[in-house]
Amino acid sequence: MSFQPPKGTDDILPPDSQVWRVVLLEWEEWSARFGYPLVATPLFEATDLFLRGVGDTTEVVTKQMYTFEDKGGRSLTLRPEGTAGVVRAFLDSGARGAWKGAYSGPMFRYERPQGGRRRQFWQVGVEFLDVESPIADVEVIELGFRYIESVGVNGLELRINTLGDHQCRPAYLTKLRAFFAERREELCEDSQSLIEVNPLRILDCKVCAPVMDDVPGMKDALCEACAAHYDTVRSSLTDLGIPFTEDPKLVRGLDYYTRTAFEYIGTGLDTAQNAIGGGGRYDGLAESIGGRQAPGVGFALGIDRIIMAMNRSVGPALDVYIVSETGPGEALRSASLLRSKGLRVDFDASGRSTKAQFKSASSSGAPATVIIHASAGEVSVRTMDDRRDMPLEEVAEWLKSQR
Ligand code: AMP
Repeated sequence: MSFQPPKGTDDILPPDSQVWRVVLLEWEEWSARFGYPLVATPLFEATDLFLRGVGDTTEVVTKQMYTFEDKGGRSLTLRPEGTAGVVRAFLDSGARGAWKGAYSGPMFRYERPQGGRRRQFWQVGVEFLDVESPIADVEVIELGFRYIESVGVNGLELRINTLGDHQCRPAYLTKLRAFFAERREELCEDSQSLIEVNPLRILDCKVCAPVMDDVPGMKDALCEACAAHYDTVRSSLTDLGIPFTEDPKLVRGLDYYTRTAFEYIGTGLDTAQNAIGGGGRYDGLAESIGGRQAPGVGFALGIDRIIMAMNRSVGPALDVYIVSETGPGEALRSASLLRSKGLRVDFDASGRSTKAQFKSASSSGAPATVIIHASAGEVSVRTMDDRRDMPLEEVAEWLKSQR
């Protein structure tokens, strides 16, 4: 029996898991600050939801889904992304009018595993539904930006683009097809096969990048409404002091994506895996999964990649380690009191020697050790640069005053 996790998956264990805990706690804090309540949907959904909601021509759907039949003969799929499930839940709830949701959890894709590309990976994200205003796009973009910045990612770059809508995109696609048809010989085989069916997707083909230098941009072909929407997105980002670059090659290859598209790039990461997250407006998604028309905008961020791109150490996982000269029972009572005052506390429950307990205290990383002496009365508190005796009741207050 091997104890390794399945290929492309990871056990997240201490001490690394402390970084995960901090990053995920900060996500809860930032998404709450922007008014996004938690939305938790099942880890698996009817396969059909992803065929319609992610798109049956995308690589995620054609090659990467974990699909299985349950005992009742239903085709189910482990969610490869979060948006389709959240939009389904929104439609099922019958809600009307602006509706926000934030999620956090594992996603599953059968990929070729490498650093930053896993078969089980963690995404956090938001969806803002039933709103058309470009201000919603900007609020969503700002949340992702502030969060990534605050967790300490080095070299964060925001890229934005517009994809137009059903009014103006068809004419642009015609232009794009003509451009690619003329340069057909310079395109890779995959791109050649996309010219008729989905020329937008050629734009982000890494192999064909040299052809893209003088490709026509969507921006010059926008209808009035889309141009105004894009103007507001740019000017509001500028107002908020959020730097961005415009990238006419940033696309999402499905029809239900409209107008705003954006990506957060970690410039310190390997270029193949430097997208920390991305999102955009998807005014046609709710309809394409069989619901009513409900415009929306959202993003998903990859926590695995955020952690790879972070340039910050997180503090210790504990505030206090208790060493007891009178056995674990007394340590338990003292820990209970300190924990009730908000401190993160651990101790040795197995009744080892004081010397062994001091060793554990030092490897625990806790910045303070509380020593319970055989003679009842005051305890000793030891920190990096101090040592003093006091009643246990005063320890929490004193440690907080030292921060
Ligand atoms: P996507 O849902 O493909 O737009 O991806 C959004 C973000 O999720 C990406 O920018 C990555 O940070 C992360 N991500 C996507 N696929 C994987 C994967 N296989 N392994 C790790 N992170 C991923």
